[in-house]
Amino acid sequence: MKPLPEHTLVDARRRSEVLAYATKTEFDLVVVGAGINGAGIAADAALRGFRVLLLEQRDIAFGTSSRSSKLIHGGLRYLEHYQFRLVYEGTNERAILRHLAPHLVRPLLFALPVYDDSKHPLWKMDVGLWMYDGLSLFKNEARHITLRSPKRMLEREPLLRSEGLTGGIIYYDCATDDARLTLENVLLATKHGSAALTRCRVAEIDDDPARAKVRVSFTDEQTGLRHETATKGVIAATGVWTDRFRKLLAREEEVIRPTKGVHVVVPRDRLPIAHAVVGLTPRDQRAFFAIPWGDRTVLGTTDTDDPVDPSAPFVTRADVLYLLEAANHAFPSVDLGMEDIAGTWAGLRPLIKPVEEQSASDVPREHRIITDGRVVSVAGGKLTTYRRMAAETVDEALPVAGLPSRTSKSEEILLPGADGPRLDFDALAQAIGEAHGLAPDIAERLANVYGHRATGVLEYLMKRPELAARLHPEAAVIEAEVVHAVERELALDVDDVLVRRTSLALRVADHGLSAGPRVAALLAEALGWSKDEARSSLERFEREVALMSAFRRER
Ligand SMILES: Cc1cc2nc3c(=O)[nH]c(=O)nc-3n(C[C@H](O)[C@H](O)[C@H](O)COP(=O)(O)OP(=O)(O)OC[C@H]3O[C@@H](n4cnc5c(N)ncnc54)[C@H](O)[C@@H]3O)c2cc1C
Repeated sequence: MKPLPEHTLVDARRRSEVLAYATKTEFDLVVVGAGINGAGIAADAALRGFRVLLLEQRDIAFGTSSRSSKLIHGGLRYLEHYQFRLVYEGTNERAILRHLAPHLVRPLLFALPVYDDSKHPLWKMDVGLWMYDGLSLFKNEARHITLRSPKRMLEREPLLRSEGLTGGIIYYDCATDDARLTLENVLLATKHGSAALTRCRVAEIDDDPARAKVRVSFTDEQTGLRHETATKGVIAATGVWTDRFRKLLAREEEVIRPTKGVHVVVPRDRLPIAHAVVGLTPRDQRAFFAIPWGDRTVLGTTDTDDPVDPSAPFVTRADVLYLLEAANHAFPSVDLGMEDIAGTWAGLRPLIKPVEEQSASDVPREHRIITDGRVVSVAGGKLTTYRRMAAETVDEALPVAGLPSRTSKSEEILLPGADGPRLDFDALAQAIGEAHGLAPDIAERLANVYGHRATGVLEYLMKRPELAARLHPEAAVIEAEVVHAVERELALDVDDVLVRRTSLALRVADHGLSAGPRVAALLAEALGWSKDEARSSLERFEREVALMSAFRRER
């Protein structure tokens, strides 16, 4: 069948056409899982000119890829274990991603206070940071600064605990929007002809070597119907579901050891820090950070081995208390409490199972590629190195699928929001605000989040100015973004919009519950839903929120 045009491939209203195309086409590669790795792989393979189908059981970035610390970082702490290659890869990728997606990968200033009981003295941290700068080939925004007195550190970050402080280091890494970075990779893939279907769970793989093609059966989670497609090869990027997925291939070996990581969000004015601050938890000396996030501050993260359902990791009261204790230790005058929590999220790290017993924090964040017949599975790694990992996985999958060798182009092709003249965010925000009479925080958000794609959202405002209304009084997210998410970003449900396209639910005290009905109404209008369909979408969102706020109900 002839490839579908890009505007059809990204429009959730045209899902049935994409579904028909998916079942009537023979693909070069079927990619399973639209986390950052699957999305990056689909984009990489599509850019090389292969015919690709991406299948995701829930939504783009539904798994770990919307639940990370949202940092694109070289991995300073790997230096402690002399893992120079990991740091080199991380810092190098950070520079590439800054170029490919400047709207999604933003420099973030870090402060690393050093105390007299810190594991490493200030001089050693300084040496470490020289290595960090050096391994990035000095391509970072700026070199680190060493503050050789407590006074100088406190001038920069006055809320820090002063007792025992000897000085500190200021350095750069980057922050991102993990879910939208994943989404833009899917959009890049569709721009180059790849089809993507969400709510399609791969349920069976028939890789009979006697047949020319692999048959992939998937269940449409919206209708419960089974469909089948044919492909030369399969790449599975199913994260913490990898062991479950490989059971479809009759492989019983467990390769993943998931650990849970929780973040909590507090209003910025309750913890007004100027930098992302890195420290250690008082309880078990694990890495802890507080990150400025617009008008919020994010505290993270825990690292526990709790056995949880990968589809429903949740935040416990113990997780929240652990992070509050760490924050109050680092910033003693602030005295944060449960009542300050304005949002939470929990994610599972798809860590590669270690060979010998080691503690959760010691497991190195490296990836593994496994070949089973014509199915290649990739797992592990981190958000930061997804592009490189995707290129490597496609390289490995091509001969397995009998496809010709072609070189990866992902290092050169800008992500869709950056595709155009060099982005000047202030000028773009000003132009948007003036042209549409939008409040400065809304104009700024549109420019920063969407880059050049902001014009797509504005088209809806031109047709329907009433869509300039805010979805929630505490956030700069507007109604036009909902319609845009459906028609241009494959959103199919209330939680797709509120959790992953806009991250509104992660930032506001009621987890976006008050915005839910309006989002459901806009989705119903765009997708032609019945009242029952709108109600069940709202209920699914409320169940997601129940997981985020589970800690509030615990005694
Ligand atoms: C708390 C925490 C903090 C982190 N912080 C950072 C950070 O700051 N920086 C960084 O670089 N990395 C970070 N990471 C790591 C990074 O987030 C992950 O390595 C990355 O998101 C994993 O992506 P993935 O695509 O492999 O998995 P996922 O994002 O989980 O994607 C797998 C997808 O496969 C789908 N799927 C599974 N089975 C099927 C099936 N049968 N059919 C169809 N679809 C299926 C799932 O629904 C899911 O969407 C963090 C991780 C955690 C947990």
